[in-house]
Amino acid sequence: MNPRSPYVLDTRQLGRGAGSQRQYRREIPAPAQLGLDMIKVPEGSLIVLDVRIEAVTEGVLATGSVTGSLAGECGRCLTSFTDDLAVDFVELFAYPNSATEETTDAEEIPRLEGFHLDLEPVVRDAVVLSLPLTPLCRPDCGGLCPECGELLDDLPDNHTHAQLDPRWAALAERFGGSDDVTDGSVRSDSSTQSQE
Ligand SMILES: [Zn+2]
Ligand SMILES: [Zn+2]
Repeated sequence: MNPRSPYVLDTRQLGRGAGSQRQYRREIPAPAQLGLDMIKVPEGSLIVLDVRIEAVTEGVLATGSVTGSLAGECGRCLTSFTDDLAVDFVELFAYPNSATEETTDAEEIPRLEGFHLDLEPVVRDAVVLSLPLTPLCRPDCGGLCPECGELLDDLPDNHTHAQLDPRWAALAERFGGSDDVTDGSVRSDSSTQSQE
């Protein structure tokens, strides 16, 4: 653990008196890859970490929030968008030789190392778990027209591809004018035809 990391707090001042509290606020440039592929905190943008630490019987309880900004790509329309990040976390850091340390795994309950606790994994988990697997530019994003790839929200309500351009119309006639002339099968048929 690097004691100079902005995520690391020194609990010496806190003491072990149960109920003793201290408050911290840190502004930290976001590290790379804080988030998911489709939505993340832009690297280098500031995240604000507000945290209260409190001495409890088994260790130090850290209660806090992380705020900042997010940049994402909409899972429906592929447009880039930004959003606000605001997540809360609560984490117990067990004292060395406490019952908690003896009965739990360091993976489930982090430990104090000497007088230091490291909030970086806590912040990372809280941020990542708050992010949607399919981010949307807005909840009712209409996505793209599967035929032409244009934004449906920008197109008139009656947007349709039933009226095809002359090339498709010609094909439609040739294949009996069924409604599904715009699907892939007809396109592949047409390429087969042209090879003959
Ligand atoms: Zn969208
Ligand atoms: Zn369209």
